[in-house]
Amino acid sequence: MTYVARHNGEESEAFAAAMGILIGDTCSPVLWALFMSDLPDFIPKDGDDIVLGGVAVRNVEQADDVLLMSSTPEGLLRKLKAMFRWCQKNFLLFNTVKSVVMIFGRRPTALPVFDLGEGGRLEVVREHTYLGFQIASSGSGMMRLHYDAKKATAETVSRVIWVFQQLSGAMPVAMLTMLYMALVDPHLVRGLLEKVQKQFLRRVLELGPLSLVAVLFTETGLEPLRYRRLLLAIDYLLYILHSPCVYVKLALREVVDLDQRGYPTWVSSLRSVVRALPGQVEFPPPGGLLLEARIERLQKDVERSMDRVLQGEVDGTDRLGLIHGRMEVDPDGGPARQVVRMRRHYLALYNPGHRKVLARVLLGSHNFATARRRYTHGTVWGLRCRFCEEREESVVHVWMICGANDAIVRARRDYILKIGRSATPGEVAYIRSLNSVPSQQLRALLDLRSVTSATAEYAYVVQEIAEKIGLAPLDRGLVADAGEHEE
Ligand SMILES: [Zn+2]
Repeated sequence: MTYVARHNGEESEAFAAAMGILIGDTCSPVLWALFMSDLPDFIPKDGDDIVLGGVAVRNVEQADDVLLMSSTPEGLLRKLKAMFRWCQKNFLLFNTVKSVVMIFGRRPTALPVFDLGEGGRLEVVREHTYLGFQIASSGSGMMRLHYDAKKATAETVSRVIWVFQQLSGAMPVAMLTMLYMALVDPHLVRGLLEKVQKQFLRRVLELGPLSLVAVLFTETGLEPLRYRRLLLAIDYLLYILHSPCVYVKLALREVVDLDQRGYPTWVSSLRSVVRALPGQVEFPPPGGLLLEARIERLQKDVERSMDRVLQGEVDGTDRLGLIHGRMEVDPDGGPARQVVRMRRHYLALYNPGHRKVLARVLLGSHNFATARRRYTHGTVWGLRCRFCEEREESVVHVWMICGANDAIVRARRDYILKIGRSATPGEVAYIRSLNSVPSQQLRALLDLRSVTSATAEYAYVVQEIAEKIGLAPLDRGLVADAGEHEE
């Protein structure tokens, strides 16, 4: 075999290799399929075959990973012997050490023996890994072990990403969410591992463990795992309906038929998940499950349900008052509109310290009394401003109104100068027009893209000043606020 290595437009000289196979070469699977094409002649139709939609499925393969199925031990032994004969004819070794038998459903009291004579004897096992899936024939579900393994991998990969960040310095949110989708999400979608997802996204946004869950998705554009798994299942259904493969369609028809006859199947699980969604999403009737247009409608209904739930959670708490009714600019020049999930503009801020503080202000996890003492000492006394001790310590009060602290007054003056430099005259005039309503002025400033980095810097400076002073004492005799940190 002769090889040539090509990189960046440069080509190496040809060199010979006496070992190895053409892994990654597109002709390899075709050559293997041709080599294996006479296998069905050796494995004849059997009365005990598994039947999908009226068609017997005698054997399935992924390259040389062969899966033989039968509804009886005798039927399986016949297939095994046929497979062994095919290997002998084709100069292949039947690997009895790596090949195993699994029994699904009721287990016979006397275990059947799978003896191939000179080919050896196959072990009957309860667990095995096939094509990377850890499958179990007993215990709480066929995929339980697989889910547990995926959870462990997802946790390890998450840790590796954070260790990498420690070495590299703060990574942009866009990069972290990309790493999440590429390295963590593929493991998470195998099981309902919402805790791992929440932990990761809270860290991406640098929010504490008590932050609201909905914002993890409204701010990053990602989908909650519960919905993501369901949408992937619906996507798979669409994939089957588009697929030119006959067998997968037969399997779907079989599953729909079994479901109609009252057996628990993939369809019945899908139906119970869809019916449990908020907002009464209608599940298609049996015939509809085989219609592309009906499944596309289901997909849209589920997406709408997801966005309604997230928006409802955001709108349902005044903790997120600063992002209520938020509008997003249309990059194509159309009118601004509400978008439930997307990676928000402020997450692209270059300075990670400023970005973190601004995110916490917007998402109700800031260090002012209205957030910190909301649930513990939410009284007029507990929420009073640490600087003037007169008004409620809210973002709008400290940022826009309170004049009791000279450093904050100076920082505010700097901020106003920066707005004048970064914003257009029209924007400045608009912000000025809101002078008499500080809460609206604050909202307008938070929405203004041209001043976002100045706003984040102001948020950071104000927080630093506030942290040095600490919350207003609850008891005038005590200075420390023991146990008052929510995160
Ligand atoms: Zn004040």
